[in-house]
Amino acid sequence: MTRETEILESSQIQSSSLLDYLQLLISFRGPITVAEYMNHALLHPEFGYYTQDQSKGGAVFGKDHDFTTAPEISQMFSELLGIWVIHTAMNLGFERFHLVEIGPGRGTLMEDVVRTISQFSHVSEKLEVIHLVERSASLRKLQKEKIQWPDVQWHETFSEIPGDVPCIVLAQELFDALPVHQFELTEHGWCERLVDILESVEDVKETEEAEDNVNRGEKRGNQKGKEKEKDKEKERDNIVEETNRVHLELNLPNTSLNSVDTRENELGEDEGDPLRFVLSPAPTNASRVYVRMFNPIPVKPIEGDKDQISSEAKEVSEEVSEESTDEKIVVDEEAIGSRLEVSPAGCALAQDIALRISTHGGAALFVDYGKDRASGDSLRGIQNHKFVSPLQNPGRVDLSIDVDFASLKAAVLALKIDGLNVYGTVGQGDFLKRLGIETRLHALLQTNITEEQAEALYLAYHRLTDPDEMGTVYRAMSMVSMPEGNEEISYEHSPPAGF
Ligand code: SAH
Repeated sequence: MTRETEILESSQIQSSSLLDYLQLLISFRGPITVAEYMNHALLHPEFGYYTQDQSKGGAVFGKDHDFTTAPEISQMFSELLGIWVIHTAMNLGFERFHLVEIGPGRGTLMEDVVRTISQFSHVSEKLEVIHLVERSASLRKLQKEKIQWPDVQWHETFSEIPGDVPCIVLAQELFDALPVHQFELTEHGWCERLVDILESVEDVKETEEAEDNVNRGEKRGNQKGKEKEKDKEKERDNIVEETNRVHLELNLPNTSLNSVDTRENELGEDEGDPLRFVLSPAPTNASRVYVRMFNPIPVKPIEGDKDQISSEAKEVSEEVSEESTDEKIVVDEEAIGSRLEVSPAGCALAQDIALRISTHGGAALFVDYGKDRASGDSLRGIQNHKFVSPLQNPGRVDLSIDVDFASLKAAVLALKIDGLNVYGTVGQGDFLKRLGIETRLHALLQTNITEEQAEALYLAYHRLTDPDEMGTVYRAMSMVSMPEGNEEISYEHSPPAGF
């Protein structure tokens, strides 16, 4: 942390809201990356969406709040994840193991998983510690009230969890909250989308106004002055409109790419937002590094240099990374405006989990909203079960992205860990059906329940599994690594339950 950032961090005490803090930060440092914005909006110690005090009317999940997750929809979801844990622990032949959940929210999933596991004593007696990775103190409190297990330990980060025991890791709707960087291809190469304050627009207005006043001197009479003032106001509106227009043009979809999504998310910033998106005038450090790492797109080869270009995709990232060669970059015009969204934080976490489960054996299950490819711009705000601008009311609105499972998988496979296999993705509907959600539904319907309860159960089943609901847009991915000495059990022939 630089000294400047330290000073700013300490000044958060005086900020009355996250917007206040962000305005101060951006005025001081200039526009910030979308990843940094997400980090502050979700996890700022005092004003973050997840970290703020939930008991003070802050943001919480559930039917009456901003969004409802699968465990909150029905106990069936979590019970089946409990079955997945039991099946996996038995298959891996664990003598003892730890269970980890990253981002447990209100603790509903783990509460039901623990209740399910407790019914199978030959597995529950091998489960020692439950580790919960949760940055929010008030969510920790909720989790503590719910999860009935003798040894529950909380951690700020996944890497704090001791690594000397086999473990099973669950992450349900976590990766969609991890920060992303967003890039856009311009004639200068891949530039980065940044979050800025509106003030610069005001500055433009004020400067122009001041210049006008100087040029025109004090010649105007009072009446004339008032008319001018009105004209000026109109002009001012035009400037604002023009700025927004240019800005919106930057958001236009590009239809020429197949490797990168066009703008599938129609929610850019809204007019009333207190912040705005801008594009860096040149490639940034993040665009230089991450575009190369993730998914460079084809560009036209540079004249006279064709022989050296064996892979267009590789070349563009190299060209973009050479600061001095901006003018040499020849970007396919068709591709200009293309966007790419990447989550280095998500990939780094997937790698940490892979390394962790490969030390003493273990498995991981990720369930999330996403696709097996990158998005162009999927960032959205969610409030009261509706999509809203991600720049609206920072800290009071949930932010979420479509998880790019392909890059998580690629990041893990790049580690080339012996004996670690990756499975999926499969749609949540198929995953739950393979785990037996229909059998569970029938069993629950046979119990002594009212007609309304039966209908609610059926509706929950439908919502969790139907392709038009959460059945395909939510997906599951898994990683499994054999404990030493158990290598003869081949997951090649026997993938984890549900895959
Ligand atoms: N798994 C729960 C909650 C999902 S909401 C459910 O399905 O109901 C996202 C959760 O991830 C919250 O608990 C939030 O505090 C946590 N979270 C968000 N960003 C995180 C980060 N960078 N590291 C760890 N946890 C994070």
